Amino acid sequence: MTTRPPIPAHPRLGTRLAYRLQRALRPRPGLRWLSARIEASGLARLLFTGVERQTKENLFGCRMCGQCALPVTGYVCPMGCPKELRNGPCGGVGPDGGCEVYPEMRCVWVDAYERAAGQGQAVDLRLLHLPIDHRRWGQSSWLNYWQGRDGELWTGEAGQDRDAGQDRDAGQVSEVSEAGDTGDDAAVPRHQPALGGS
Ligand code: SF4
Repeated sequence: MTTRPPIPAHPRLGTRLAYRLQRALRPRPGLRWLSARIEASGLARLLFTGVERQTKENLFGCRMCGQCALPVTGYVCPMGCPKELRNGPCGGVGPDGGCEVYPEMRCVWVDAYERAAGQGQAVDLRLLHLPIDHRRWGQSSWLNYWQGRDGELWTGEAGQDRDAGQDRDAGQVSEVSEAGDTGDDAAVPRHQPALGGS
């Protein structure tokens, strides 16, 4: 488990650049091969995980939960929420968008919505995140992503049959996002993009 307390953090990486990197880092044979080689060596895995920790902590306030939600939260880490809520804000958000626990800070979910909507990705905020596996704290979410171990982190919007979205893939997500969707009526994607790790 991480020792860092959950504190809201505003990303230091612009949303547009984050989504571009997300597309560039989608799993492909080369990345699968590379991640497998890294995992085959204890030292390489340790070093790689350390680089990920440092990078994502600086950029996103990452706490290394190992099951990254960044690609569908406007690249705002939901584990920075003092209540670690992964499915939207609690009822204590202030009228100015402030966090209930740290009123001087912006609620991560308000931040997430604004950033995602700014890139036509508001539909991502309708996804239903599944409970995380707490045994995976400290793991590299990048390696988990490239190795296909975090494909079940979220499903369709609340109330939707979980299997209903299973035929949606990353390509379809790209179509949704490139269409400049605002999230009003579009199909809810079920995907696993990168950078955040998942
Ligand atoms: S892996 Fe992603 S969701 Fe998990 S703590 Fe880090 S930035 Fe947040």
